[in-house]
Order: sequence, then structure tokens, then C-alpha cells
Amino acid sequence: MTFDKETLQTLLNLPDIAVDHVVLGERKTLKVYVHSTLEGTNCHRCGRPIDHEYGHGQEIELRHLPLFAYTVVLILRPKRYQCRFCEGRPTTSQTLSWYTRRSRVTKAFEQQMLLELINSTLEDVSRKHAIGVDALQGILDRNMACDVDWNVIERLEVIGIDEIALKKGHRDFVVVISAYINETLHVIGLLGDRTKASVQEFFLSIPKRLRRTVQSVCSDLYQGFIGAAKAVFGKRVHICADRFHVAKLYRNGLENLRKSEWKRLCHILSKEERKSFKNVHWLLRQRRADLNADERRMLNRLFRYSPKLQEAYEACESLTAIYESRLSKG
Ligand SMILES: [Zn+2]
Repeated sequence: MTFDKETLQTLLNLPDIAVDHVVLGERKTLKVYVHSTLEGTNCHRCGRPIDHEYGHGQEIELRHLPLFAYTVVLILRPKRYQCRFCEGRPTTSQTLSWYTRRSRVTKAFEQQMLLELINSTLEDVSRKHAIGVDALQGILDRNMACDVDWNVIERLEVIGIDEIALKKGHRDFVVVISAYINETLHVIGLLGDRTKASVQEFFLSIPKRLRRTVQSVCSDLYQGFIGAAKAVFGKRVHICADRFHVAKLYRNGLENLRKSEWKRLCHILSKEERKSFKNVHWLLRQRRADLNADERRMLNRLFRYSPKLQEAYEACESLTAIYESRLSKG
């Protein structure tokens, strides 16, 4: 099996590494041996930048996002550096930006697991991704303790509040706060309890600059969360229920739903009726405000046959208002 190293590197999408070689392991696992291309680190004792090389540390294995249904494990020997300022000249292993020291998975993999855990359980995600429940619990604990780097975020726009169900014996659940950042869903906060107070405290930890960019808060959970959102982001914020439903519909669901609903309707509509819906697929892609009276009538007629489609269309409309500038007008 041969791999183009550069392509593989692009697919891994991680900075400061180069691929050395790849081994196809058992159970569809790709072991990707990499080395760091970054020079230097900071002394763990005094914090000064140091660049006096001191060999390599122990090999570490980090699980990364899958590629083409292959489990990906990165294998790396961290570079070590010696401090010439501190007494005893201690050494420090370099840690790259895409993983946390002592973690067995990459940050990207952690993010993916957190997103998969939303509205799911540890057991389900564990089965689906062949990762131990304890490892998942570790990911949660680690991310619960870490602070968000707000500096790298430009806008928040849509914030979601959901929960993750945990294993019995641990806390029962964790509250997950997520946001669309650059059109990708990210987990921005994990809270150990679901009181209005702790949700509100988290919202208040968001810098004012970003709080102003929040346009919409979505949660199908407990009303207290909504109260917390209103208290922090003000009355102008749009509140919606059941974000995943909405977000999924928003992404590509409307189009899929239109196809399946149309198929269904083809069985119940006469040929004449079908003809009367000519170009209705095009209307569904427009905002209601941009349609003329006849076109709106046609849409409404369609919605009488398919309330589902109406629900989806309306969900899209409310999100379109937010993402308008980014939508392709097709
Ligand atoms: Zn030092």
C-alpha cells in the first residue's frame, strides 16, 4: 500500500508535522508516523523559550479523525529541549498545538467526540467509534476543565444548549454549549450542572465583543437556559427550540425532504396537479419575502399537502435571516 505523503498530510489537516511513513494495521487502522517540523518549546519550569535540542521523548500514539472509514492513529516522538537558564538544566518535551499533553487523542478528535455525544450517551458513542467509555469520560473531564480561547473566535451568531447523558454513577449529564464558528459546529463550553445560574455564568464569561454577535440561542431543554440566555444576550436575541432539528434541516435537509416528499406526493397527486406545481422546487429555495403573490400561493398549496415541508421551510427561513450573507442564492 503506497501513500502520497503530501496528500495524506493535507487530509490530516494538522500543522507543524511531516509524514514519515504509514503502516496499515489491524482492524482497518492507519498508523501514520509523523515528526514535528516545529523548532523549540518553552521550558516547563521557567517558561522561557528554549531551543537546545536534547533528543526525543517516548513515542506517543494519538487517535485522530478517521479517513475513508479507516481509524487513524498518529505516532510521534516529541522533540526534547534542554533549558540552559534553570538549575539542573531540566528538559522539556515539545507539545504541538493540535493535542494536549498526556492525551491519547488529538483535539480535532476530541471535538468530534463531543459533538457526537450531544443528545447521545457515552455507551452509544463508545460502540459507534470503538473507543472506551472511560476514554470518552476523560475527554469530557479534560474539556470541562479547559478555558475557551475567545481571542481566536470572531463571531458566535448561533449558540446551542444541549446535554450529554453520562454513565450511571458519574454525574448524570453534562450541559454542552456549542456554536457555529466559520460555518462549523464547535463545542465552546461544558458545564457540570444544569442550573440557570451556571449557564448564565458561562454566558457572562463570553467577552462582551462576542456576546454582541450572538443572534440566536437554540435549546429544546429546560426553560431556565432560555431565561439565562435572555438575561445575558438581551431581548433582541432570537430563541429557537430543538436546534439539531433546525440545523440539520438548514444544512441540506430541506432539499432531501423536498425530494422525498415530492416522490410521495407523485403517488397521490393527479397529473394535472403535479403540473400545477411546476418549478415549486425553485420557490422553496427563495425567501418568502422575495416571492410574488402567485408564487406564495403555490408554496402554500404545497404546504397543505406537506406540513413537514412547511416546517422545514420555515426553520430555514429563520436561519436564513442569520446566515443570509453566506447563502448562495441558487
Ligand atoms: Zn528553564
